[in-house]
Amino acid sequence: MEGLIMDYPLTTTTILEYGNSAFKHKKIISHLPDASRHEYTFGDLHKRCMQLANALTNTLGIKKGDMVGTFAWNHYQHVELYYGVPGIGAICHTINIRLSSQQTEFIINHAEDKVIFVDATLVPLLEKIAGKLETVEHFVILNAPKNFNTTLPDVLHYEDMLAGQLEEFQWPTLNENDASGMCYTSGTTGLPKGVLYTHRSTYLHALTISTPNAANYSNSDIVLLIVPQFHVMAWGYPYLCLLTGSDMVLPSSNLQPEALIKILQKEKVTKANGVPTIWMGIYESMKKNPPRPKLDLEEYLVGGSALPASLIKAMEKDFGIRGVHAWGMTETSPLGTVSRLQPHHQDLSEDKKVNVRAKQGIEFPGIEMRIVDNNGNIAPRDGKTMGELQVKGAWVISSYFKTKNRDNFTNDGWFRTGDVSTVDQDGYMHITDRTKDLIKSGGEWISSVALETTLMAHPKIKEAAVIAIPDEKWSERPLAVIVLQDRNDRITNYELKEFLSRDFANYQIPEKYLFIGQIPRTSVGKFDKKEIRRRYAQGKL
Ligand code: ADP
Repeated sequence: MEGLIMDYPLTTTTILEYGNSAFKHKKIISHLPDASRHEYTFGDLHKRCMQLANALTNTLGIKKGDMVGTFAWNHYQHVELYYGVPGIGAICHTINIRLSSQQTEFIINHAEDKVIFVDATLVPLLEKIAGKLETVEHFVILNAPKNFNTTLPDVLHYEDMLAGQLEEFQWPTLNENDASGMCYTSGTTGLPKGVLYTHRSTYLHALTISTPNAANYSNSDIVLLIVPQFHVMAWGYPYLCLLTGSDMVLPSSNLQPEALIKILQKEKVTKANGVPTIWMGIYESMKKNPPRPKLDLEEYLVGGSALPASLIKAMEKDFGIRGVHAWGMTETSPLGTVSRLQPHHQDLSEDKKVNVRAKQGIEFPGIEMRIVDNNGNIAPRDGKTMGELQVKGAWVISSYFKTKNRDNFTNDGWFRTGDVSTVDQDGYMHITDRTKDLIKSGGEWISSVALETTLMAHPKIKEAAVIAIPDEKWSERPLAVIVLQDRNDRITNYELKEFLSRDFANYQIPEKYLFIGQIPRTSVGKFDKKEIRRRYAQGKL
C-alpha cells in the first residue's frame, strides 16, 4: 500500500523559494575579482534568478535539457546561475577553469554546452579555443569592466541581458530526478568524465551536510565558500546556505592566504570549507602574522585530500580553530563521510582523539560504504584490513555521462571509488591510498599517504609527496619528494629514516629523498602524482 503523502519534488527551485520565504534578509557577500565588495540578500537573489530565467528562455532560447556552461569564480552571479539554470529545467555545467586548454575544449564539446557564462578575467582562456567549440551559440560575460573587448564571437553582457527582464517567472514543475548540474572529474587519473547530478541528489546532499553530526550549519552562521563553484558545485554550499539561512561569503579570485584572512576577518566568518593546501597556507600566514582581533572562525571543513593530524593540532593550539575532516569525490556530489568525535571518545587521550579526527570518518545518512579486499570479499571492520572503498547512496553516481563503460560499478550496484581504505570497529573509514598510488614493494603494499602524512609532521618539512619508482629487486620502491619549510635548511636521509622508523617498518621507509622548491599540483590543488612520476621518469625532478 502506498502512503498518503503529497508528491513534492525536491528541486533546486524549492530551495530558492524556501531561502526567499524563510530567510529573505540573509546576505550574500561577494569579494569580486576587481577587489570590490558586493552585498545583497536572499530576497534579491530570488528576484534576479527570475530575471535570469526570463533571459535564458527569451533572449538565449534555452530549453529544458539544454546544457549551460559556467566558467567563473565564486560570486553572486554564479550563484544566480546555480538556481536560474536548473530552475527552467536546463543543466548548470560548471567548467573547471584550471584545466588545460585541451581538456576544457574536450569537456565543452562532450557536454554540448549551448551557452557559456564566463568571467571577464577568464575570457582569454576561452578565446584560445573558441574556434574549436562545436555547440556554443553565445558567450555571456560576467563582471565586464567598461570598454571590455574580446575576440569571442556572439557575445552578450550578463547585466545588460538581465536589465529590463521581469522579476516574475512561473517556474515549471520538474521531476526531482531531472538533471540539474554537471561536473567533470578533474582527470587526476585519466580523461575527465561527466557526472550528472539530479535535483533530488543536490537537495538531499545539501540538507544532510548541514546537520549537526555533519558540517553543522544554521542561520547564525556566516560561511565562506573557498571551494570553487567550478569544483563539484562548491560542495553544494550555495544550496546548503539557502536551506540553513547561513550568510554566504564568496571570495572569487581572492584566494591567496592573506586575502582570505582579510575576508574571514572583515565578514566575521564562522565556518568555511577548503582543501588542505588552502588551510596550510592560511595557517602559515597567520603564524607569521597573527590576526588581531582574533578570527570568529570556529570550524573549517576539509576534504579533497587528507587533512594532516599535524595541521588539526597546530590550528587548534595556536588559534583555537577546529578542523573537520571529510571525504568525497565528484562522483559522490561530493561529500560521503565526515569525522567528528562521539561521546564514547571522550576518555581518549588528546593524541588519540586527533587520530580519530584525522580519519575520513563515518558515512552521512543516505550513504553506505564497504571495503572489498583483493579476493572480492567484504573486509571486516577491524581498522586493519585494507581494500577498495565502495559506496552507494542517494547522491552517488549511477553511470558516467554519455558512456557505457561500467568499470567503476560492481554488478551488485556499488560504485568503486578507487580509494584504498580500512574501516574500524566504530565505523570510521580511513583512506590509506588510491589504488593507482599504492606502492607494491616485494609483494607488500606500502601506503604513500601514510608516509606523506608522517613526513609532513616533521618540523622542517612543509610538504611531502611519495610516489612509486621502479626497482629491479623489489619491483617498486617509495620515493619521497620534499619541500622544506626553509629553503636554506638541511636535513639528511639518515635523519628522515630515523624519523620514519618510529611509525614504519624498515621495508616501508624510502631510501631516496628529493628536495624540490614546489610540488606540482592538479587543477584542484592536489599533489599531481601523475606529473611527479612523469618528471621523475624524464630525470626532470
Ligand atoms: P579526482 O578524482 O580527479 O582527483 P575528485 O576531486 O573527485 O577528483 O577527487 C576524489 C578523490 O580525492 C578521492 O577518490 C580520494 O582519493 C581523494 N580524497 C578526497 N577527500 C579525501 C580525504 N579527506 N582524504 C584523502 N583523500 C581524499
